[in-house]
Amino acid sequence: MTPSRAPMTAPTAPAGTAREVLDAPHTLLTTMAAPVDPADPRVVEAAADLLATLRRADDRLGVSAPQIGLGWRLLAIDVSSHPRTRSCAGELVLVNPRLTQAARWETAREGCLSVPGLVGEVRRATRITVTGQRPGDGESLTFHTDAFEARCLQHQLDHLDGVLFLDRMPTARAVHRARHPQSPLRHHV
Ligand SMILES: [Zn+2]
Repeated sequence: MTPSRAPMTAPTAPAGTAREVLDAPHTLLTTMAAPVDPADPRVVEAAADLLATLRRADDRLGVSAPQIGLGWRLLAIDVSSHPRTRSCAGELVLVNPRLTQAARWETAREGCLSVPGLVGEVRRATRITVTGQRPGDGESLTFHTDAFEARCLQHQLDHLDGVLFLDRMPTARAVHRARHPQSPLRHHV
Protein backbone atom coordinates (compact mmCIF):
# COMPACT_ATOMS: atom_id res chain seq x y z
CA MET A 1 0.00 0.00 0.00
CA THR A 2 1.10 3.52 -0.76
CA PRO A 3 1.03 6.33 1.80
CA SER A 4 -1.66 8.91 1.23
CA ARG A 5 0.88 11.49 0.09
CA ALA A 6 1.30 9.57 -3.21
CA PRO A 7 -0.02 11.38 -6.30
CA MET A 8 -3.76 10.88 -6.42
CA THR A 9 -4.22 11.16 -10.14
CA ALA A 10 -2.33 9.38 -12.87
CA PRO A 11 0.63 11.52 -13.98
CA THR A 12 -0.18 10.89 -17.63
CA ALA A 13 -3.94 11.44 -17.32
CA PRO A 14 -5.50 12.65 -20.59
CA ALA A 15 -7.55 15.84 -20.77
CA GLY A 16 -11.15 14.90 -20.14
CA THR A 17 -14.50 16.07 -21.40
CA ALA A 18 -17.10 17.49 -19.03
CA ARG A 19 -20.23 15.33 -19.15
CA GLU A 20 -23.85 16.03 -18.29
CA VAL A 21 -24.73 15.05 -14.72
CA LEU A 22 -27.78 12.78 -14.47
CA ASP A 23 -30.68 13.79 -12.23
CA ALA A 24 -32.63 11.45 -9.97
CA PRO A 25 -34.62 9.33 -10.58
CA HIS A 26 -32.32 7.90 -13.26
CA THR A 27 -31.90 4.11 -13.06
CA LEU A 28 -28.10 4.33 -12.90
CA LEU A 29 -28.39 6.40 -9.70
CA THR A 30 -30.15 3.55 -7.92
CA THR A 31 -28.05 0.68 -9.34
CA MET A 32 -24.96 -0.95 -7.82
CA ALA A 33 -21.96 -0.05 -10.00
CA ALA A 34 -19.53 -2.73 -11.21
CA PRO A 35 -15.80 -3.07 -10.39
CA VAL A 36 -13.53 -2.11 -13.28
CA ASP A 37 -9.94 -2.59 -14.43
CA PRO A 38 -8.04 0.62 -13.57
CA ALA A 39 -5.72 0.05 -16.56
CA ASP A 40 -8.58 -0.18 -19.07
CA PRO A 41 -8.20 2.85 -21.39
CA ARG A 42 -11.96 3.45 -21.15
CA VAL A 43 -11.62 3.74 -17.37
CA VAL A 44 -8.65 6.12 -17.69
CA GLU A 45 -10.74 8.24 -20.07
CA ALA A 46 -13.73 8.15 -17.71
CA ALA A 47 -11.47 9.28 -14.83
CA ALA A 48 -10.38 12.29 -16.88
CA ASP A 49 -14.02 13.02 -17.77
CA LEU A 50 -14.97 12.95 -14.08
CA LEU A 51 -12.29 15.53 -13.30
CA ALA A 52 -13.40 17.71 -16.22
CA THR A 53 -17.01 17.45 -15.02
CA LEU A 54 -15.91 18.38 -11.49
CA ARG A 55 -14.00 21.43 -12.69
CA ARG A 56 -16.93 22.73 -14.69
CA ALA A 57 -18.46 24.68 -11.78
CA ASP A 58 -17.24 25.98 -8.43
CA ASP A 59 -19.99 24.25 -6.46
CA ARG A 60 -18.92 20.81 -7.66
CA LEU A 61 -17.03 19.01 -4.91
CA GLY A 62 -17.37 15.42 -6.06
CA VAL A 63 -18.84 13.31 -8.82
CA SER A 64 -19.15 9.58 -9.44
CA ALA A 65 -19.17 7.53 -12.66
CA PRO A 66 -22.89 6.63 -12.37
CA GLN A 67 -23.71 10.35 -12.33
CA ILE A 68 -22.18 10.73 -15.80
CA GLY A 69 -23.89 7.64 -17.16
CA LEU A 70 -21.35 4.89 -16.41
CA GLY A 71 -22.16 2.02 -14.06
CA TRP A 72 -18.55 1.71 -12.89
CA ARG A 73 -16.89 1.96 -9.47
CA LEU A 74 -15.01 5.19 -10.04
CA LEU A 75 -15.24 8.59 -8.30
CA ALA A 76 -13.55 11.98 -8.18
CA ILE A 77 -13.53 14.64 -5.46
CA ASP A 78 -11.93 18.01 -4.81
CA VAL A 79 -13.01 19.79 -1.64
CA SER A 80 -10.10 22.23 -1.53
CA SER A 81 -12.45 25.24 -1.82
CA HIS A 82 -14.92 24.18 0.88
CA PRO A 83 -14.88 26.03 4.23
CA ARG A 84 -15.53 22.86 6.29
CA THR A 85 -12.51 21.07 4.79
CA ARG A 86 -9.57 20.18 7.06
CA SER A 87 -7.44 17.39 5.53
CA CYS A 88 -7.39 17.82 1.77
CA ALA A 89 -5.81 15.83 -1.06
CA GLY A 90 -6.89 18.28 -3.76
CA GLU A 91 -8.11 16.42 -6.83
CA LEU A 92 -8.52 12.76 -6.00
CA VAL A 93 -9.69 9.99 -8.34
CA LEU A 94 -10.20 6.44 -7.08
CA VAL A 95 -11.08 3.26 -8.94
CA ASN A 96 -12.86 0.47 -7.03
CA PRO A 97 -12.76 2.47 -3.76
CA ARG A 98 -13.71 0.81 -0.49
CA LEU A 99 -14.38 2.26 2.96
CA THR A 100 -12.25 0.26 5.41
CA GLN A 101 -12.51 2.35 8.60
CA ALA A 102 -15.07 4.86 9.84
CA ALA A 103 -15.24 6.70 13.18
CA ARG A 104 -16.54 9.83 14.94
CA TRP A 105 -19.96 10.18 13.42
CA GLU A 106 -21.75 13.49 13.08
CA THR A 107 -24.88 14.79 11.38
CA ALA A 108 -24.44 17.68 8.95
CA ARG A 109 -26.03 19.18 5.87
CA GLU A 110 -25.20 18.04 2.35
CA GLY A 111 -26.67 18.09 -1.12
CA CYS A 112 -26.11 16.32 -4.42
CA LEU A 113 -25.54 17.39 -8.02
CA SER A 114 -28.11 14.77 -9.04
CA VAL A 115 -30.75 16.05 -6.59
CA PRO A 116 -30.84 19.75 -7.46
CA GLY A 117 -32.50 22.17 -5.06
CA LEU A 118 -32.57 19.92 -1.98
CA VAL A 119 -30.25 19.53 0.98
CA GLY A 120 -30.49 17.28 4.01
CA GLU A 121 -28.98 16.35 7.35
CA VAL A 122 -26.96 13.16 6.89
CA ARG A 123 -25.03 11.17 9.50
CA ARG A 124 -21.49 10.41 8.31
CA ALA A 125 -18.16 9.42 9.84
CA THR A 126 -15.69 12.32 10.22
CA ARG A 127 -12.59 10.08 10.29
CA ILE A 128 -12.27 7.46 7.56
CA THR A 129 -9.85 5.25 5.69
CA VAL A 130 -10.56 4.43 2.05
CA THR A 131 -8.61 2.10 -0.20
CA GLY A 132 -8.72 2.11 -3.97
CA GLN A 133 -6.67 2.12 -7.15
CA ARG A 134 -5.22 4.89 -9.25
CA PRO A 135 -6.51 5.04 -12.84
CA GLY A 136 -3.85 4.13 -15.38
CA ASP A 137 -1.19 2.24 -13.46
CA GLY A 138 -3.62 0.67 -10.99
CA GLU A 139 -1.41 1.59 -8.03
CA SER A 140 -3.05 0.65 -4.71
CA LEU A 141 -3.82 3.66 -2.54
CA THR A 142 -4.75 3.94 1.11
CA PHE A 143 -6.28 7.25 1.99
CA HIS A 144 -6.97 8.65 5.47
CA THR A 145 -9.04 11.78 5.83
CA ASP A 146 -11.51 13.68 8.00
CA ALA A 147 -14.14 16.43 8.16
CA PHE A 148 -15.73 17.50 4.88
CA GLU A 149 -13.43 15.47 2.65
CA ALA A 150 -14.57 12.36 4.57
CA ARG A 151 -18.21 13.37 4.11
CA CYS A 152 -17.76 13.98 0.39
CA LEU A 153 -16.01 10.64 -0.11
CA GLN A 154 -18.75 8.73 1.75
CA HIS A 155 -21.37 10.50 -0.37
CA GLN A 156 -19.59 9.42 -3.58
CA LEU A 157 -19.09 5.86 -2.27
CA ASP A 158 -22.85 5.74 -1.73
CA HIS A 159 -23.37 6.66 -5.40
CA LEU A 160 -21.38 3.55 -6.39
CA ASP A 161 -23.85 1.48 -4.37
CA GLY A 162 -26.88 3.18 -5.92
CA VAL A 163 -27.62 5.11 -2.72
CA LEU A 164 -28.63 8.79 -2.68
CA PHE A 165 -28.35 11.05 0.38
CA LEU A 166 -32.15 11.13 0.44
CA ASP A 167 -32.07 7.39 1.22
CA ARG A 168 -30.13 8.19 4.41
CA MET A 169 -32.63 10.73 5.75
CA PRO A 170 -34.09 9.59 9.08
CA THR A 171 -37.34 11.41 8.29
CA ALA A 172 -38.77 13.48 5.44
CA ARG A 173 -38.44 16.51 7.74
CA ALA A 174 -34.64 16.23 7.48
CA VAL A 175 -34.87 17.32 3.81
CA HIS A 176 -34.89 21.05 3.04
CA ARG A 177 -34.98 23.25 -0.01
CA ALA A 178 -31.59 24.81 -0.71
CA ARG A 179 -31.86 28.56 -0.21
CA HIS A 180 -29.70 29.21 -3.28
CA PRO A 181 -29.97 26.09 -5.43
CA GLN A 182 -27.48 27.31 -8.02
CA SER A 183 -24.36 27.29 -5.87
CA PRO A 184 -23.83 29.61 -2.87
CA LEU A 185 -24.32 26.90 -0.24
CA ARG A 186 -21.67 24.78 -1.93
CA HIS A 187 -22.94 21.55 -0.43
CA HIS A 188 -23.27 19.75 -3.75
CA VAL A 189 -21.32 16.56 -3.73
ZN1 LIG B 1 -24.29 13.13 -5.12
